[in-house]
Amino acid sequence: MAASLVLERTPFLGAERVPLVDCSGRVLAEEIVASAPLPAFPSSAVDGYAVRAADAGKALRVIGESAAGRPFGRSVEPGTAIRILTGGVLPEGADCVVMVEDIQLRGEVVTVPGGLKPGQNFHAPGADLKAGEPVLAAGVQLGAAEIGLAAALGLAELPVGRRPRVALMSTGDELVEVGKEPGRGQIPDSNRWALLAALREAGADVRLLGIGPDEPDALRRLVVDALAGADVLVTSGGVSVGTHDLVKPLLESIGDVHVGRVKLKPGKPFTFATLPERKLAFGLPGFPVSSLVTFEVFVRPALRKMQGHAQLQRPTLPVRLGYDARATADRTEYQRVTLRREGPELVAISTGSQSSSRLMSLAGAHALVRIPPGDQGIEAGAVVEAMILALP
Ligand code: AMP
Ligand code: MG
Repeated sequence: MAASLVLERTPFLGAERVPLVDCSGRVLAEEIVASAPLPAFPSSAVDGYAVRAADAGKALRVIGESAAGRPFGRSVEPGTAIRILTGGVLPEGADCVVMVEDIQLRGEVVTVPGGLKPGQNFHAPGADLKAGEPVLAAGVQLGAAEIGLAAALGLAELPVGRRPRVALMSTGDELVEVGKEPGRGQIPDSNRWALLAALREAGADVRLLGIGPDEPDALRRLVVDALAGADVLVTSGGVSVGTHDLVKPLLESIGDVHVGRVKLKPGKPFTFATLPERKLAFGLPGFPVSSLVTFEVFVRPALRKMQGHAQLQRPTLPVRLGYDARATADRTEYQRVTLRREGPELVAISTGSQSSSRLMSLAGAHALVRIPPGDQGIEAGAVVEAMILALP
């Protein structure tokens, strides 16, 4: 299958150490193990009094205070208590904390309730994480909680997969810059912006090449120059079989084309090539939906592999088809659907006309439903695995 062929030829780009300030969304390259317990010291969970559980029900002399970051130097002896604030170090001798709401205070004497239990109201060292415990696995994407954990363990920078540098080019003499008035027969270069967003969401560092010319030598110069500073070339348009379709011959002349057409709808002309120095080229079809669907199926997993992601594919969920899905005889079809909750189930509703030019079929779609080729199709009511883009 073309998708696995692409992944087999996709390299991991290696790791680099990055300060936490730039780690959001990056992919961890090595496992992180706790080097010390968390919390490192017994830490009060509440504002109250640190006491010995054995002194339950007694009136105790308050001998000092342990605030967060300001530990008290002495220990709690029988008949004494120490005022403690949330995050303060539990002093030696104390084995529990009584909440301020549960005591009576007269001057410097605190009366604590009966029935105190050792361990009450403080976090013991290692309660959250024990030293040596695995914290984050290699291949996870770093979000808020993961970065917070690394910071709590005192790690100022993390080893993460290098981001793929992608050169993005649109082709087609009919294209004009977005914002310029199109002349007769011209259209705005919308794929550039759609693919830029998709590439960035997938972690790529994108360089925009603009609109490539439908002229072989000029196109070749532009691509060869851009590849000097890129790991991946992504183009849209120019991979069909028309006389102005110059991308495929160009890729054949500078690398090896492994895929020149796929049994996919939309996206038949999808092209994949390997280039010198382990670089990759993806020639996406020009039709807007085709370019984004082939991006989902082929490019996104490859960009994730380059960064060392453990999870290359979108998650899937079983959904009940809410419409009769007709199949295409010789091609797998990725139909765009919205999802609706019906009790415990998700029901898939077609986004309407699935024309490859109709971006409205993808805007707001929650999932792609894969319909295998054939003359059968899948009837409404059947349960299929859907590739989830966003949940409703
Ligand atoms: P092509 O793959 O070059 O034959 O293009 C197929 C269709 O997609 C044509 O109708 C093109 O006008 C359209 N198309 C190609 N490139 C773009 C683009 N960058 N933005 C929007 N539509 C495009
Ligand atoms: Mg074209």
